[in-house]
Amino acid sequence: MLTAIVGINWGDEGKGRMVDLLAGGQDAVVRFQGGNNAGHTVVNERGKFILNLLPSGILREGVVNVMGNGMVIDLEHLYNEIGRLRNAGISVTPKNLRISDKAVICMPYHKLQDCMEEDRLKDARFGSTRRGIGPVYGDKYMKKALRMGELLDPDSLKARVASLVEWKNLLFAGYGKPPIDASEILEWLEKYGGPAKEMICDAGAFLDSELENGKNVMLEAQLGALRDIEFGIYPYTSSSTTLSAYGPIGAGIPNRKVDRVVGVMKAYSTCVGEGPFTAEWFGEEADKLRQAGGEYGAATGRPRRVGPFDAVASGYGVKTQGATEIALTKLDVLSYMDELPVCAEYDTEGEHTRCFPIGKKLEKAKPVIKKMPGWKTDIGAARTMAQLPKPAREYVCALEAAVNCPITMVSVGAGRDDIIIRRPGE
Ligand code: GDP
Ligand code: MG
Repeated sequence: MLTAIVGINWGDEGKGRMVDLLAGGQDAVVRFQGGNNAGHTVVNERGKFILNLLPSGILREGVVNVMGNGMVIDLEHLYNEIGRLRNAGISVTPKNLRISDKAVICMPYHKLQDCMEEDRLKDARFGSTRRGIGPVYGDKYMKKALRMGELLDPDSLKARVASLVEWKNLLFAGYGKPPIDASEILEWLEKYGGPAKEMICDAGAFLDSELENGKNVMLEAQLGALRDIEFGIYPYTSSSTTLSAYGPIGAGIPNRKVDRVVGVMKAYSTCVGEGPFTAEWFGEEADKLRQAGGEYGAATGRPRRVGPFDAVASGYGVKTQGATEIALTKLDVLSYMDELPVCAEYDTEGEHTRCFPIGKKLEKAKPVIKKMPGWKTDIGAARTMAQLPKPAREYVCALEAAVNCPITMVSVGAGRDDIIIRRPGE
């Protein structure tokens, strides 16, 4: 069985938390896109972990974790992330971590390029995480990227790096920056890439044979539908495809169909970076929610922009992800509110709509807010729907109706067991 765990919103919905929970029944967990701009938080009996590159199944014994061909990998970051986990007593070996030979390496010059361009853009910047993700994906599609498998052939690597550095230096000169040195790049590749070599393999072939043998494989997405490069709020998107439909491709099993798509949807809205965010709150109202939800970026520490649940954007996210069910997260965070505002529709130049608009129309859209009663009581200990106060149950049902997809799980805390698995009819 092939399951995908994907984000319905702008990211940070709690995908890491859901993967950690559901990885219990899985044989392999695969990250299929993105790089270390991800920040997936997992809280379980082993501690609190923030994973940027490694799949969130790494904390489960017996699960093989795969970094798929759709990823971009900063080797230095990978080296340090593995080191941090090992220091915390988590074993990371070729037995539980495999890296696709086709995954692309995010080089030090990609990070520099990212920063130079954001600085040049000043107020018009994209809100990049400055980790080189846009530039490395750009190089991938220009066919000027290094892939992990190339680390295994040092002779041709040397010539490739020399040619790439020569090309990059044309760009650096244009920004008025000093040239970079090919030998330093080779040293960096050896230092941080050397230890990863034993994990590099044809990851797709491995996953395909797992599925052939009836094993369970889970695809873990980074970010959310609204940050997808094709269907998100372009250009305020990430540089990769965050959608479940891309999962099999980015994992190396394009011949496989996803059986189950769990869309992770937050009970309110948050976003990091620039771009339209229709239902955004400011001032005290925003500060309260940000604090209640601990909404500071897991990868960057940046305060997240916050707002009420957005039914228009989330409905679009559910559809684009092809979600077959929803895991609703962070419901407990809303317990402090007297009333729960929900953005039910958009007002686009006087016209009310539930269709998510693009371009200028989205920039001009105003939220149409409906209010629901709050519950004003701690719900963190609830483990069944019946243990939730009535207004909380009504809120769940209203969100389910708004996005037209069954909510099968409700998360009421960051810990692995802080979950309500909803029974049919509840
Ligand atoms: P991801 O990027 O989608 O994996 O999400 P992040 O880890 O960036 O952000 C989610 C944050 O919310 C993390 O700090 C989680 O520990 C926390 N979290 C996840 N689910 C819940 C929940 O149901 N309630 C509360 N209070 N926190 C949660
Ligand atoms: Mg995150």
